[in-house]
Amino acid sequence: SDFYGFAHDLTAAEQASLAEIREFMETRVRPEIDEHWHADAFPMHLIPGIAALGVIGPAWAESARFESSAVYRGWIALEMSRVDASVSTFAAVQNGLVCGSIGVAGSPEQRAEWLPRLADCSVIGAFGLTEPRSGSDASKGLATTARRDGDEWVLDGEKRWIGNATHADVVVVWARDDADGEVKGFIVPTSSEGYSVSKIERKISLRMVQNGHIVLDGVRVPESMRLQGASSFRDTARVLRLTRAEVAWSAVGVMVGAYEAAVRYTTERTQFGKPIAAHQLVQDLLAKSLGHITASIALCVQVSRMLDEGRQGDAHSALAKAYTTARMREVVAWCREVCGGNGIVTDFDVARFFVDAEALYTYEGTAQMNSLIVGKAITGASAFA
Ligand code: FAD
Repeated sequence: SDFYGFAHDLTAAEQASLAEIREFMETRVRPEIDEHWHADAFPMHLIPGIAALGVIGPAWAESARFESSAVYRGWIALEMSRVDASVSTFAAVQNGLVCGSIGVAGSPEQRAEWLPRLADCSVIGAFGLTEPRSGSDASKGLATTARRDGDEWVLDGEKRWIGNATHADVVVVWARDDADGEVKGFIVPTSSEGYSVSKIERKISLRMVQNGHIVLDGVRVPESMRLQGASSFRDTARVLRLTRAEVAWSAVGVMVGAYEAAVRYTTERTQFGKPIAAHQLVQDLLAKSLGHITASIALCVQVSRMLDEGRQGDAHSALAKAYTTARMREVVAWCREVCGGNGIVTDFDVARFFVDAEALYTYEGTAQMNSLIVGKAITGASAFA
C-alpha cells in the first residue's frame, strides 16, 4: 500500500522495529479484535506486549529505546491503525497525549519519574481536556477549576470522553487556575479521594476503547503533581500539535487497513463470471483509494519532517489532521461499497474501519476546528475571536 515506497527512507533499525510491530499486530492483535469489539471491551492482556514493542514514549529520551525520527514514529501509528484503530488509540492516548503532556510540559524530575513507567505500561494514563459542556471550545469553555491551598491544589469539575479513563492509574487533568484564570495541567492519581469515573456505553465507533466520564469533587493533588512547564492553554496546544500529526498518520493506517481488506475481498468475490476486482468501476474505486493513501502518506511524511527540523506549527499539523481524516472517510466508504452487503458485517474487517473512522474524524479537533486553525494561518483572521 506504500505505492511510492516512502518507508524506504527509514533507517534499518526503524524498518526492523516496524516489521516487529506489524508481526505483533497481525499475530497477537488481529485474532482478538472481533470478539473484543463486539464485547465493548479492551484486550487488557495485550498491554504488556504493546509496551514491549517500544511504541510508548519513543519521542522522549527518558523512555525511548533508540533515537528515532518523527517520520518513523508516524509509521508506528500507521502500522497499528492498519490492523485496529482501537488498539492504536489506546497507544496514542498513552504515548501522544499522556507521555506528550509530561514530555512537553513536565519538569526534568516529572519526566524522569513518569515517562519510563508510562513507556513500560506499569502506569496507565489518560488525558482529560474535554468536558460535558466544552469540546471544540476547549480553551475558553474549560470549566474545571484548580484552587491553590498551601502546597496542594483542589480540583473540581467533570471530564468527558476520556480514553483509557476506566482503567487508568493517572489522568493528566487540564483545569483553570482560579487565581490567574489560566489553564494548567495536573497529574491526578485515579485513587485520589473525590475522583470517580463511569464508562461511556453504547458507542458505535472504537468500541474497544474505554472512554470515561470523570467527576472531580474536591480532589487534592500536591504542587509536585502540577506540570511545571504548563502555564496556559498555549502549552496544552503544544501537546495537541504533536498528537494531531500522529492522528493524521493513524487515519492513513485506517485507510490502508480498509483498502487492503477491500482488495482481498474483490479478488475473492466473483460476479458476472469474473472476480469483481476485474470490473472497471471497482478498479476505479480501488485506484482512487490508493491515490488518497499515497497523497496522505506524502503529507504525513512532510509534516513529521517539519517536526524533526523544528518547523512544524499548529496549522501544519491541523491541516494534516483535517485533510487525512477527510480522505479516510471517503476511502472507508468506497472500500465498504465494493464489499457490497458483506461490507456491513464486521466479519470482513471493512465495516469496523468504516465506523471506527468516525471517532478519528472527531477527536483531537473536529474537521471544522482544524480548518479554522488553518484558516487563521491563511488569512491572519481568527474565527475563534
Ligand atoms: P462539539 O464541540 O460540541 O462540536 C459539535 C459540532 O459543532 C462539530 O461538528 C464541530 O466541528 C462543530 N462546531 C463547534 N464549534 C464550531 C465553530 N466555531 N465553527 C464551526 N463548527 C463548529 N477528549 C479528551 O480530552 N481526552 C480523550 O482521551 C478523548 N478521547 C476521545 C475519544 C473518542 C472516541 C471521542 C469521540 C472523543 C474523544 N475526546 C477526548 C473528545 C473529543 O476531542 C471531542 O469529542 C471533540 O473535540 C469534539 O468536541 P464535542 O464532541 O464536544 O463536539
